This record gives sequence, C-alpha cells and structure tokens, in this order.
Amino acid sequence: MSRIELDGKVCLVTGAASGIGKHIAETYAAAGGRVAIADLKLDAAEATAAAIRESGGQAMAVAMDVTSESQVVEGVAQIAAEWGRVDVLVSNAGIQIINKITEFSFEDWKKMLAIHLDGAFLTTRECMKDMEKRGAPGAIILMGSVHSHLASPLKAPYVTAKHGLLGLARTIAKEGGKLGIRSNVICPGFVRTPLVDKQIPEQAKEFGISEEEVIQKIMLKDTVDGEFTTLDDVANVALTLAAFETNALTGQSIVVSHGWFMQ
Ligand code: NAD
Repeated sequence: MSRIELDGKVCLVTGAASGIGKHIAETYAAAGGRVAIADLKLDAAEATAAAIRESGGQAMAVAMDVTSESQVVEGVAQIAAEWGRVDVLVSNAGIQIINKITEFSFEDWKKMLAIHLDGAFLTTRECMKDMEKRGAPGAIILMGSVHSHLASPLKAPYVTAKHGLLGLARTIAKEGGKLGIRSNVICPGFVRTPLVDKQIPEQAKEFGISEEEVIQKIMLKDTVDGEFTTLDDVANVALTLAAFETNALTGQSIVVSHGWFMQ
C-alpha cells in the first residue's frame, strides 16, 4: 500500500492538545496536512503545534471551547484567514463524567451533551459552510465510541451523545453528498489517554472492585486479544478517512476496538 498523503489539506482537529486528538493532529501533519490544533487549553495547544512545527510540519493553535458558538465561528474564520479553507474536520473534543442515572445532576448531563453534541454540530456547521461557499468537497469525521453502539452502566449522557453522533454524520452525508462532503464516525474501544486513566479509579470505587479488575473485567473483557486500542490504531483510521476521496465511504461508523464490538 502506498503511503497516504494529505498534500497540504487544511485539517481542524478539536480537543487536539491531548490524547487521541493530539495524535491525529501529529499523524495528519506527518502526512503533509496543515493542522489547526483547537482546544480549550490554549497553552497545551500551542505546545502541541510548536512540537509539530519543530519536526517539520505545519500547525497552528486555536483557542476554542467547542460549546461556545462565538468561539467556534471565530476559530474557523481564523483558520480560513490563515490558510484559505478547511478541508477536514475532526470533531474530537470530549470529556467523561460517570454516575448512576439516579445520581446524575442535570448540570452534568447538559455539560456532557454540550461538549459532545453541540460541539460536533457547531464545528460541522462552520466547516460545512466554508466547503459549500467554495463549492469544494471535504471530510467531516466525528469521534464516536464503541458507546455509539453499546451501552454501559454509569455512562448515560456519554452513550446518548455518542449514539447521537451517528445520526448527525448520516445527515451530513445526505446533505453534503452532492459536493462530495463525506462524514463518518470513528468508534474506538478503550484507549489509554487521560480521559480513560481518570475513569479507572472512579469505576473501581463505584463497582467496589480493583483497578486491575476494571481493566480486565470491564474495559478489555470482550476484545479478541485483551489489548487496549492504541492511539496509532485510531489515528491511522482518521488518516484514511481524511484522504479517502469519494462518497463510497460516507455516513458510516468505523469501529476500531480490537473486536470488542463487531457490527
Ligand atoms: P483527552 O482527555 O486525552 O483529550 C480531550 C481533549 O479535549 C483535551 O485536550 C481537552 O482540553 C479537550 N476539551 C475538553 N473539553 C473541550 C471543549 N469544550 N472545547 C475544546 N476542547 C475541549 O481525551 P481522549 O481520550 O483523547 O478523548 C478524545 C475523544 O475520543 C473524546 O470525544 C472521547 O469521547 C473519544 N473516545 C475516547 C476513548 C478512549 O478510550 N480514550 C474511546 C472512545 C472515544
């Protein structure tokens, strides 16, 4: 297989100062993409962008809370002003809050839906407007989860939001089809990032089991090899979706989970 190239494509990755988003941004830059590192944490976004530039890639940091309409509008405009367009969006910013439904505060529920759903909607709207204005194709990639297909206890808003992203991607695919604006959802299994590392002790406490049991009996129990999904696993799928050029691959969810969920 020949190496996948992004040939200067302008790629906006949200939540790119850490974890999965950061590794996707690094992978895109290594493949010749120009990468906008958008994050709530501007210092960390600047550090990620600087490290990419030091290794010969093109990257800029953008301050963006994906739940803020004005910050998303301004952030996308900033990228278009600098690089003329947005070709690829990876709507990846996300957090996790776990609790029983009966103990979930309304505030936490709304916070989760705002980051995962409002964030995906707002960034999609602004990037799609840019693509439509130029009459150009593009790729809109939403970060789902195995929890876009399965439910787990303690994760009501996360499971709800991740299921919702499937509907958004399918609608983008239908509305964007004529111009070749493709949309797909990546659904990873558990990846060792700060988001997951935080959950391990929380779940151990909630279920009254050890942290090792959370890993073996909850997180990796149904994988085919007892392995975590890796940052490379997810970034390589994100690279394929960014470079894939036809509507043959749109409106889909790609599950990257070492066989935990098979569709
Ligand atoms: P992470 O905590 O390492 O990184 C998340 C990033 O998002 C951070 O840099 C954070 O500052 C940023 N962020 C949070 N709220 C934001 C906001 N309102 N606006 C902009 N940026 C914001 O997490 P991760 O594990 O890399 O998760 C990234 C995505 O992947 C999430 O959508 C998550 O649900 C999804 N995911 C993760 C896993 C996993 O096992 N780690 C599995 C499936 C899906």
